[in-house]
Amino acid sequence: MRVCALVPNAGSGTRMKTALPKQYLALDTKPVLIHTLNILDKAKCINEIILISDKKYIEKSRLLIQKYNIKKVSRIVCGGKTRQESVYNGLMSIKNAPDIILIHDAVRPFITQDLIRKSIKTAHKHGAAVIGLPLFDTIKLVKDNCIERTVDRTNLWRIQTPQVFRYCLIKTAYQKANKNKFSGTDDASLVEQLNHPVRIVQGSEMNIKITDQKQFKLAGQARLTPTGGNYKCGLE
Ligand code: C5P
Repeated sequence: MRVCALVPNAGSGTRMKTALPKQYLALDTKPVLIHTLNILDKAKCINEIILISDKKYIEKSRLLIQKYNIKKVSRIVCGGKTRQESVYNGLMSIKNAPDIILIHDAVRPFITQDLIRKSIKTAHKHGAAVIGLPLFDTIKLVKDNCIERTVDRTNLWRIQTPQVFRYCLIKTAYQKANKNKFSGTDDASLVEQLNHPVRIVQGSEMNIKITDQKQFKLAGQARLTPTGGNYKCGLE
């Protein structure tokens, strides 16, 4: 089985309010992107990594990959205006069809080898798998700072990456979405449009997406807690 990882890394990081996009900021001593790539690079079940970066930062990404000796990145593809466009560009750049595509956000540097393995295994068996966690907080529908109603949370999950698919399935889903001008906030929503079932693999609270200053601080604390239980796994 050949597995290719796509890493969308072309966000501009406007929520972070820093000059440099957050994926290039140092967490402990290395850029967030490098933490993420290191984990994917070490995953035995991943054969190749395609990095998707903003045109402005392609050279910077290339130099970082060289400096930190990331071995499996075969190419850096130019990103688009949205995450969906970026992943589409990555998918369309593939010439030799792999069996499985694993899509993982560059800004989730705490993914574990165990979740990578489990999500690939599930996608190999069922076609599509995403990492997710059930919601335990009470969920409200809010409008103009006022609660409209309480939402039944029984079947609600929050979804993370990796999102993993058979290559043909995710390629077809992206091509169809492109044709129909459908836009989703994750990769699975495009596969859902094909009415193909997507399995959930129970994720980890630690697999945070760094979006703003608060999460960056939280990630920094995790990074600096070498024996901090689950934190350690993502940082091997
Ligand atoms: O914007 P969001 O937080 O959903 O970004 C998730 C991931 O998608 C990040 O790693 C970001 O760099 C990437 N992204 C991208 N191209 C864009 C926007 C986001 O590759 N145009």
